[in-house]
Amino acid sequence: MSESSIVVCPQCDTANRIPVERLADGGTCGKCKTPLFAGEPLELKATNFDTHASRSDIPLVVDFWAPWCGPCRSMAPAFADAARQLEPEFRLAKVNTEEEQQLAARFGIRSIPTIALFRNGREVARQAGAMDAATLMRWVRSQR
Ligand SMILES: [Zn+2]
Repeated sequence: MSESSIVVCPQCDTANRIPVERLADGGTCGKCKTPLFAGEPLELKATNFDTHASRSDIPLVVDFWAPWCGPCRSMAPAFADAARQLEPEFRLAKVNTEEEQQLAARFGIRSIPTIALFRNGREVARQAGAMDAATLMRWVRSQR
């Protein structure tokens, strides 16, 4: 029996069970047929945050940001670059703290950008301040 991982679809939030050896080529959602890894950060809202943070076996890296924050906007390309390189080992997502104020309050986000790593629904690491792609990837991988 091969091992499998739960991967939550970035499009329809359905939990898919994927054999571990097939994770590398991603696969598609059984429900909506969208690729499970798009190589870009996923936008999370209060309505789907917990599904992606808790149901998925893939650790979740969240960028808490806001449109008015200059350092957040400058970091966006680095975060997208890291998404292309860290998937499918990690899932990268963004939370717009201006639109999702309850999520920002729930996690006590005091400065942005703040990057937090979630595993099985629990926050295991957090780093405030903008990072370039290389620093971000090093930080994420050092949390394993
Ligand atoms: Zn889907």
